[in-house]
Amino acid sequence: MRKPGRTREEEELRLREDAARWQDLRAIPLHQRRDDRSKHVHHSAPGEVTKPRRKGFKFTAGMTVKEFAELIGQRPADIMRKLMDMGQMLTFNQTMNVDAAVIIAEENGIKLDLSTEKVGEELLESVVQTEEDAQLESRPPVVTIMGHVDHGKTSLLDAIRQTKVAEGEAGGITQHIGAYTVAVRGKQVTFLDTPGHEAFTAMRGRGAKITDIVILVVAADDGVMPQTIEAINHARAASVPIIVAINKIDKPGANADRVKNALSEHGLISESWGGDTIMVEVSAKEKTGLDTLLEMILLQSEVLELKADPHRMAKGVVVEAKLERGRGPVATVLVQSGTLRVGDVFVVGVFSGKVRALIAHTGAKVLAAGPSIPVEVAGLPGVPSAGDVFQVVKDERVAREIAEDRAHKQRTTDLSGSAKVTLDDLFAKIKEGSVKELALVIKSDVQGSAEALTASVEKLATAAVKLRVIHSGVGGITESDVLLAAASNAIVIGFNVRPEPKALALAEQQGVDIRQYTIIYDAMTEIKAAMEGLLEPTLKERILGRAEVRQVFTVSKSGVIAGAYVVDGTITRAAVGVRVLRDNVVAYEGKLGSLRRFKDDVREVQQGYECGISVENFNDIKAGDIIEAYAIDKIAAKL
Ligand code: GDP
Repeated sequence: MRKPGRTREEEELRLREDAARWQDLRAIPLHQRRDDRSKHVHHSAPGEVTKPRRKGFKFTAGMTVKEFAELIGQRPADIMRKLMDMGQMLTFNQTMNVDAAVIIAEENGIKLDLSTEKVGEELLESVVQTEEDAQLESRPPVVTIMGHVDHGKTSLLDAIRQTKVAEGEAGGITQHIGAYTVAVRGKQVTFLDTPGHEAFTAMRGRGAKITDIVILVVAADDGVMPQTIEAINHARAASVPIIVAINKIDKPGANADRVKNALSEHGLISESWGGDTIMVEVSAKEKTGLDTLLEMILLQSEVLELKADPHRMAKGVVVEAKLERGRGPVATVLVQSGTLRVGDVFVVGVFSGKVRALIAHTGAKVLAAGPSIPVEVAGLPGVPSAGDVFQVVKDERVAREIAEDRAHKQRTTDLSGSAKVTLDDLFAKIKEGSVKELALVIKSDVQGSAEALTASVEKLATAAVKLRVIHSGVGGITESDVLLAAASNAIVIGFNVRPEPKALALAEQQGVDIRQYTIIYDAMTEIKAAMEGLLEPTLKERILGRAEVRQVFTVSKSGVIAGAYVVDGTITRAAVGVRVLRDNVVAYEGKLGSLRRFKDDVREVQQGYECGISVENFNDIKAGDIIEAYAIDKIAAKL
């Protein structure tokens, strides 16, 4: 379609210029160029075609190299070669860049039909209402409970549910749907039943901001614990206000002041002490203090002025989803704006469908649910993921198209978070202006070094980039750390500690950069160099294998031999070094001494086999230790 006011000739000229400009554009990934794309190529091809335009040359976003080759009747290998000439290394199954497709097609005398028909997310954007004409009305607050294990998160949720749910809603059988709403003095409060900051941050990492207030539960007899601090940092990173519930106040050893004191060290100062954090003493067991807690939640939500438009087509987030026998896939959706009704057509993740039934947390069937109300939705063709956006659209065809487009993209494109910041590309991102703040998660072996590193790192800030430590703690790098980093686009710095294998896998999947150091100075130098674009080629470590020490023998001649079992990879003599880990903390780093199977020296031992290992100059190996063998690869810094 031509833009109004343009002649065909002008349009053609512009297209040619666009093709020339492609040279400059091609280096930038498509997703960073949305505007350019819509400006330059998202209109149908003009009249001048070398061959009459045939049906079937319709290029759709997300097409793979292979599909594109089929479309224009070429061999995929030839297309790949052409792409290579253009500086794009793509495999058969990777997504074809629109600009490259236009040029290659043109070389073959084919005019691609890029047509103005919107697809996928653009189509979705065009069918949902904008915020401009919103008729905002106040909505209930959505609350998530966090805290250290055993401090009473579940008990508190249950206590509130038992005392409050029955009050307003008669007759319903309470069922578990992952969220519930209670009425307090005619006002509603929604509780999300996803205890644990991992769930909270995992959802945020997927772009879903669903919580207005975090209730931080701290047991009065136990005080501030590591997960309490983690929860504080996760809530802060998400900019969600915290209300503290000091629980188990009924216990003889309870000491609320000690809790307040410890919390003040983490920046949460009680209102009663002149600070601005609301702290309420409760007992989930005796059900005391619950009313005060609820009142404080209402008070806080008034301050937040929470509003949404109940009159539009509903949009929400999946809180929980499962396949239920006899009922098929069901999802608990928290409506965020608009009103969800039975019969509404929707898209959620890669699925589309029509709401067959809505069930409230009480188990009662309802016809509609407004903002901040959780409901169970039946009528899905599959099970979506927690954190997926649930969007109502007008017609079924549109819903189906959007879902299909997403499914197609999911199959073809690499969904890993490649847009995340790494130390290697920090400088480029600073220059590009896309990074103004470098967020860090710091883990170390002892509290002292975590503090020292935090203090020194914050001093590295420049006029162009701020440095912010969003979480620092003691111990190995966990999945929770990686989730937090992924959701906050942060880099994880490990000081004398190692990532747990699961955390490492998650980091790889999410594209989170984990950096490990044993000397504070090294960490500082590298961050500084990265900020100035002077990062040396990175020496990237590659884990070759890990063996678990089962038994330890002392042999007079050769010192201590660890009887170990290779849990993954291969332990090999070719390893540059080995590391002894105790609870994910590095106990020793050095060289492999000997490697044996039975009495024989061997070159390598693979996963699933037992072996005898000694570490040069280190005799303090204990049963339960992990011996990790690694190689070091040299990787040039990308600037
Ligand atoms: P969560 O791990 O944070 O979900 O903690 P739970 O709710 O499972 O509670 C852990 C333990 O603390 C359970 O044995 C509860 O019965 C107990 N508990 C929870 N709240 C209270 C309370 O207010 N007073 C007392 N005395 N015990 C409590």
